[in-house]
This record gives sequence, C-alpha cells and structure tokens, in this order.
Amino acid sequence: MIGSICVFCGSSVGSRPAFIGAAIAFGKVLAEQKIRLIYGGGRVGLMGAIADASLNNGGEVIGVIPQHLVDREVAHQGLTELRVVDSMHERKALMAELSDAFVAMPGGLGTLEEFFEVWTWGQLGLHRKPYALLNVNGFYDPLVQFIDQLVEQKFVKPEHRKMLIVESDVAMLPVRLSGHHTPAVDKWIDRKTT
Ligand code: AMP
Repeated sequence: MIGSICVFCGSSVGSRPAFIGAAIAFGKVLAEQKIRLIYGGGRVGLMGAIADASLNNGGEVIGVIPQHLVDREVAHQGLTELRVVDSMHERKALMAELSDAFVAMPGGLGTLEEFFEVWTWGQLGLHRKPYALLNVNGFYDPLVQFIDQLVEQKFVKPEHRKMLIVESDVAMLPVRLSGHHTPAVDKWIDRKTT
C-alpha cells in the first residue's frame, strides 16, 4: 500500500504545455487517492504546479528544502508542511525516508540526479521501494534507449533495468507502483566469476 510518493521534477516548466498539464493531472490523482506528495518544496516550475494541484484538490503535501534554496527556489509557503534542512544530501535522505515510492516527471539535471540516486541505491539493495519515470509525450524515450544500451553493453544487469517502471498515464502510476515487486538482485554477482 502506497501512502506517499516522492516526485522529482523540474524547477522549470519546460517547453511543452503537456509537461505542466501532466504535473497538474498527477497532483490531482495523488490528492484523490489520498497519497501524500513528498517533493522538493519549491513553488516554481513543475514542482510548484504539482504541489498546487494536489493542495487544490485537498491533498497532503510535504516539501523538503535546504535553507540555501529557500529563497532561490522560492519555497512554497502554503504546504501541509515545509521541512527546511541543512544540505542537499539531507534533503534527499529525508525525502527518501518519508516516501513509499518515487516518480521522476520531466525535469533537468536535478531531477535526473535525484532519480538516479534512488535507482542506484535500489540496485545496491539499500531500499526496496519502487520507482518510475512518468514518460510525458515520450520525454524519457531517449534516456530509456540509452539505458537499454547500457544493458546491451553489459554495464547494467537486465534485472536492474526491469526494476524501472516507465509509464505515460498519470492515473496508472499509483497502480503500477503498488503492484511492483522489487527483487533482491546481487549487484556484484559477476565479481564471483572474475
Ligand atoms: P531541475 O531538474 O534541475 O530543475 O531540479 C529539480 C530539483 O532538483 C530542484 O529541487 C533542485 O534543487 C534539485 N537539484 C538540483 N541540482 C541537484 C543536485 N545536484 N542534487 C540534488 N538535487 C538537485
């Protein structure tokens, strides 16, 4: 049962209206399904859009933001709760602790960094929480292709690739995340044979 989802997404809105449309739609889905939104605490870009959409539909939203970004990312002052921490590392650790699952929406370097940390930590068995890319209008297709290339070239195990959910429908995301079983796969199994 998923009670809270951590969403990583752009502090910008991006170039396509579909991105903000998806942020608004997903925020609404979370509120309707009584799933708490955990996110980076800003009120700009897609971050602000998803937070507002959830709040406007009666949802619960917790923002986690480091002090040095409170002004730069214009911290959202209308959240259910705003947790101000000391560093980016603390922010990610607290967001992970508060969440049952993770979703990356379209975003930039920060979004990718946050998502890949979750994935790499999952791959190392440090958590068993599910994670998904919300693939709005094929935004993540090139990244998924590149990851498949990493599998082909034997830098990523097929089992670790399979842990990634790629979904384009916001309404399906909670369903797919709750039905996902994360297998325990030894990252270092190859070492035994070398
Ligand atoms: P972006 O996708 O670059 O617009 O950033 C989205 C979120 O990721 C924002 O809340 C940023 O503060 C955060 N972020 C940016 N850079 C990093 C980083 N190096 N590590 C962790 N989070 C970051």
